[in-house]
Amino acid sequence: MADTLDRALLEWYDSRRRDLPWRRQRDPYRIWVSEVMLQQTRVETAIPYYLRWLERFPDLLSLARAPEEEVLALWSGLGYYSRARNLHAAVREVASRYGGEVPRDPDAFAALPGVGEYTAGAVLSIAYGLRLPAVDGNALRVLVRLGALEGDITRTAVRREAVRLAARLVPEDRPGDFNQALMELGGSVCVPRRPRCGDCPITAWCEARRRGLEGVLPRRTRRPAAPAVPLAAALIRDGSGRVGLARRPAVGLLAGMWGLPAFEVGAETPAGAVAAALERHLEEAHGLRVRVGPPVARARHVFSHRTWEMTAFAGDLLEAPPEGPGWRWLTPGELEGFPLPRAFSRLVEAAGLVPAAPAGRPERRRSTR
Ligand code: SF4
Repeated sequence: MADTLDRALLEWYDSRRRDLPWRRQRDPYRIWVSEVMLQQTRVETAIPYYLRWLERFPDLLSLARAPEEEVLALWSGLGYYSRARNLHAAVREVASRYGGEVPRDPDAFAALPGVGEYTAGAVLSIAYGLRLPAVDGNALRVLVRLGALEGDITRTAVRREAVRLAARLVPEDRPGDFNQALMELGGSVCVPRRPRCGDCPITAWCEARRRGLEGVLPRRTRRPAAPAVPLAAALIRDGSGRVGLARRPAVGLLAGMWGLPAFEVGAETPAGAVAAALERHLEEAHGLRVRVGPPVARARHVFSHRTWEMTAFAGDLLEAPPEGPGWRWLTPGELEGFPLPRAFSRLVEAAGLVPAAPAGRPERRRSTR
């Protein structure tokens, strides 16, 4: 058996590493794309998206030149569109400020939109071989157990301590593989509920195991459930059956995305007055006169900090459909391929306008690389 932790972990990784498309080369742009896709998506789900993406945007400059709408359409189905928009914005900045070359300086790279410490560490260690830690949720769990860090894992101080531990452990030789090995170990062996310490290559160095704490670490205080917020949306059809989509405000939840015109219903609005409040909202926020009818669909969508309890009401236009950059009018067929945020696609599915997403649609979850 290897006599250092990094050797033991790398030997284990070499014996089981999967042949994944982003592991076949060291192109920083391609590794960056894979890292962004894997942040909330399983490997199996991400692979076809990754391959399609590279077919259309094989290099950084092709992505930088692409219109946002096309970028979002290709991302459609992966959810969390802010990831795609940030990647697009960051790539454009790399094209204009760094001549299209992903910067090697961790601070410069981490300052790009949506990058941050984890992505910078992962991309730069894998692509350029820089000795940097990359701590995702899986690696964090391993590190907390390895160092027997007793604090609440959701606290920044504990996370910082884990990153410092990772920074000490990551070797000069093969830092990118080491980081991936640590994440893989967390995803397959050092799993949340019952870590499989008998199969673990670094059990000899694990402080939690030595103290019998592997079953209780990491500690976590329960967060209160995300509050439920009612959302009233208008399903407005024009004379030819097209559905009206409005661009959401530039700040706030789903900023700048397209969706059914909608508003969060405050506690001051009684249930019987929601339709009238929606009429007022359409007039005040969109300058649109609509007769709001009965509810036609309901759906629920959970964000990290709130849950939308959504109701779509039928809406009859009392004037010509508005045009301009804030509105789109789409047939149900066009709606089906349109990159709507998942919250609104749930609602149009519930209304029977588009078929329900097939089983196996990407789950919003942490990567299990
Ligand atoms: S010995 Fe057990 S708790 Fe420690 S790192 Fe390995 S799997 Fe995790």
